[in-house]
Amino acid sequence: MPELPEVETVRLSLEKLYLNKKIESVSILLPRMILSPINEFISTVQGTKFISFSRKGKYLLLNLDNGYTIVSHLRMEGKYIKIIRGEPLPKHARIVFHLNDNIDMVYDDSRSFGIMILVRSDDVLKLKEIAKLGKEPFEIDDPKYLFDKLKNKKNEIKACLLDQEIMCGLGNIYADEVLYKSKINPYRLANTLSLDECITIIDNSKKTLKHAIELGGSTISSYHPEKGVDGRFQNELMCYGKKGEKCPYCSSIFRKDELGGRGTTYCPSCQNVALRIGVTGKIASGKSTVLNYFKELGFKVFSSDEEVNRLYTLTSTKKGLINIFGESVLNDNLTISKGYIKNTIANNPQKKKELEKFIHPLVKKSIIDFIHKHKSEKLIIVEVPLMFETKFNLMFDYILGVTCSHSTQLSHLKSRGSKTITTDLIINQSNKFDKNACKCDFLINNDGTYNDLKKQIDLILKKLLNHSH
Ligand SMILES: [Zn+2]
Repeated sequence: MPELPEVETVRLSLEKLYLNKKIESVSILLPRMILSPINEFISTVQGTKFISFSRKGKYLLLNLDNGYTIVSHLRMEGKYIKIIRGEPLPKHARIVFHLNDNIDMVYDDSRSFGIMILVRSDDVLKLKEIAKLGKEPFEIDDPKYLFDKLKNKKNEIKACLLDQEIMCGLGNIYADEVLYKSKINPYRLANTLSLDECITIIDNSKKTLKHAIELGGSTISSYHPEKGVDGRFQNELMCYGKKGEKCPYCSSIFRKDELGGRGTTYCPSCQNVALRIGVTGKIASGKSTVLNYFKELGFKVFSSDEEVNRLYTLTSTKKGLINIFGESVLNDNLTISKGYIKNTIANNPQKKKELEKFIHPLVKKSIIDFIHKHKSEKLIIVEVPLMFETKFNLMFDYILGVTCSHSTQLSHLKSRGSKTITTDLIINQSNKFDKNACKCDFLINNDGTYNDLKKQIDLILKKLLNHSH
């Protein structure tokens, strides 16, 4: 989809190719694209000259010498193509303006989403689609304009930058670029931005759009009426489309997530988006002790075990579990019997598989919600016992593995007063932590005292936070 710089590039080309050209006649091949009465459109346009080409947001304004304007929106794939009369029409020609000097200006649109409206030039700004547009960055002299518009918005700044009624001109590509250059977390709630940050955003929006316009936009030739005019700005993009590559400022890896239905690329370090730490390890290795220490330090933590317990209390989950295990999965008081589940899956691999297929996606969804909710934190910690088996490790920046000897593990289990040590150990056999330990970014050994454990965690935190913030 063309963004503002591409539309401006089209405007410049139209001006260069068709200024002062006379419209001798019009052929309308797809009438539904014209949102004005067709006969009136043809009779008003015929015999006039193009006196200027202007633009409001992504609307092109083709101004005629009789006081009328054709308002044109390219939507997904619309483009203007110049041909010499007699040459074959482009494949998706929809409207053809036959001009003097044997030139045809062809509006071509493979998706046919584009539109044209004929209005009196004086009324263009009153068109409801145009009237509701916010100011373009170039039109903003006082940054308080943006600050005031954002101060009551409780959604993410990225979503607000895409909202053309707040500020007009940034689409997905440029919104990512601007937030990256401004070092602003795309997940920050808009009403938390300071006036200084608004100034930075407006500044970077102007610079980025201006630079993009100079280079003909970011997309490959398809929108351009002249052959050979490519969107060279695509070579200048610093953040958009760089998922998995290294940030040139800090060497962190660019991430891409969905935000409000749109892909959003950002540098987690430069833009202060919470680092995601996954904690894993064998049964009774001390994962929850590690988690509790992080919590004590004030970080947001998520425990998959606790989440499973919570999920087990929901009616919908109970129904699912009864489907798998039958009514015997319920205690007398109709709560879920975890002991029954443990014993069953220890001896029945098929049931274990069914349980995992049912419960893992629910936990995954909860983790995603948790990550999303805390993106403006520095660091968040999520404990997942079967990290690698579930491939949940892909959701995290760093994986922290908790290791301990077999005897520590046994003594942990005993001190828990666990009556099901044998069952726990059988289930533990399917835990592939040992095999995957090499995939962890950090290993913590939990054979020593609680203080030893804390020291190791402090050291890791120091590394992570120094590196990134
Ligand atoms: Zn960076």
